[in-house]
Amino acid sequence: MNPTTPRIAIVGGGLGGLTLARVLQVHGIEATIYEADTTRYVRPSQGGTLDMHEESGQRAIQEAGLTAEFRAAVRPEGQDMKLFDKHGTLLCEQVAEEDDLDRPEIDRGVLRDILLDSLDPDSIRWGKYLKEAIPLRDGRNELHFADGTFATCDLLVGADGAWSHVRPLVTDAEPEHSGVNFIELGITDVDGTQPDLAELIGRGSLYALGDNKGIMPQRNGDGRIRTYVAFRTGEDWLTACGIPFDRPDEARAAMLGYFTDWAPQLTDLIRHCDDTIVPRPIMQLPVGLAWQSKSGVTLIGDAAHLMSPFAGAGANLALLDATELALAVINNPGDPAAAIETYEKAMHEYVLPMAEIASHHLDLMISPDGDKQMLALLAQFDDMAAEGNDADR
Ligand SMILES: Cc1cc2nc3c(=O)[nH]c(=O)nc-3n(C[C@H](O)[C@H](O)[C@H](O)COP(=O)(O)OP(=O)(O)OC[C@H]3O[C@@H](n4cnc5c(N)ncnc54)[C@H](O)[C@@H]3O)c2cc1C
Repeated sequence: MNPTTPRIAIVGGGLGGLTLARVLQVHGIEATIYEADTTRYVRPSQGGTLDMHEESGQRAIQEAGLTAEFRAAVRPEGQDMKLFDKHGTLLCEQVAEEDDLDRPEIDRGVLRDILLDSLDPDSIRWGKYLKEAIPLRDGRNELHFADGTFATCDLLVGADGAWSHVRPLVTDAEPEHSGVNFIELGITDVDGTQPDLAELIGRGSLYALGDNKGIMPQRNGDGRIRTYVAFRTGEDWLTACGIPFDRPDEARAAMLGYFTDWAPQLTDLIRHCDDTIVPRPIMQLPVGLAWQSKSGVTLIGDAAHLMSPFAGAGANLALLDATELALAVINNPGDPAAAIETYEKAMHEYVLPMAEIASHHLDLMISPDGDKQMLALLAQFDDMAAEGNDADR
């Protein structure tokens, strides 16, 4: 490391933190990731499938020099989508071409493995849960970890997700409840155990919407179906509703009670789900959140702009942030303050429209007539695509 290279600490080894370290590493710049998990294997399920957008997620993967590994792992067919109403009527179906690489799907765990395998193992410190970051007089930051150890750095990057412990250094904003709650269900080996459901869902994802609710299964690369059951029920409902998430038979029966007039082929996704049933309140940071740049500390990914999953953008933006910040560090050698300012200016601009979409789509889709609203939205996308094609001619 030359004397002008800042000592970079990345708190959080999720997709954003890993991508940042990787792009810096490609350019010969060292950074240390401090990750709360004690090993890379401690969380066997890393979450569902992600569609990687060409202009954000895929651009980052290219900057990370990992396009070949990514292409070998993606599932273009995962872009297939079906929309149903609650009676089980198919309203719309989209089928992807085999070579459509616009937004191919990849399992989050697979993408994480690609990133982890590409990094110098010494750049990650496992079991380092950040309790607090304290700014020092000389502009550096001191990190205090739960295991009693400390570290100092010239550039601190909070990549520690929704409940970031770095965020308070730049803003007082905190995640707010979006009004919608998910319950996450799964079916392992759906082709072997539930062939009718496997056929219903097909190769990609399915949305069944209406009555302020949704049943939204998606096929993962390991043959598993992950289903998000959505309820517009407001804050605290997941604790107040009385569904016993740790007693699967009772939890399934209680959930089915909310869907008595829905088509059985849709509610079979609840009836036949595995015993792991996970409540997930959908939280978001205020849309348009921005702050005055501070020298020595910044945020990427959910720490900076947690949003509802209804734009399918969170992971893509985490990767894009990582790339923009890495390039800003590379282009401003020895001047972390300038790097942060350049990165944050760009980030706040490109995040705003995505945060607006995430909030708007959540309101449209989990609504009394979510099926009709989503159908109208898809027609709008088709019109926009047709206009784009006309303009290209
Ligand atoms: C149900 C659901 C579905 C989604 N679907 C999509 C989708 O289809 N497409 C999409 O683009 N996005 C999707 N998202 C959003 C996406 O998951 C996130 O935006 C993305 O994971 C953010 O990445 P990140 O690296 O910023 O944070 P995270 O993935 O949350 O990673 C944060 C890391 O920091 C670590 N950490 C946390 N606190 C500390 C601490 N104090 N000290 C040290 N380490 C810490 C954590 O262990 C973790 O490894 C979805 C989100 C949800 C909830």
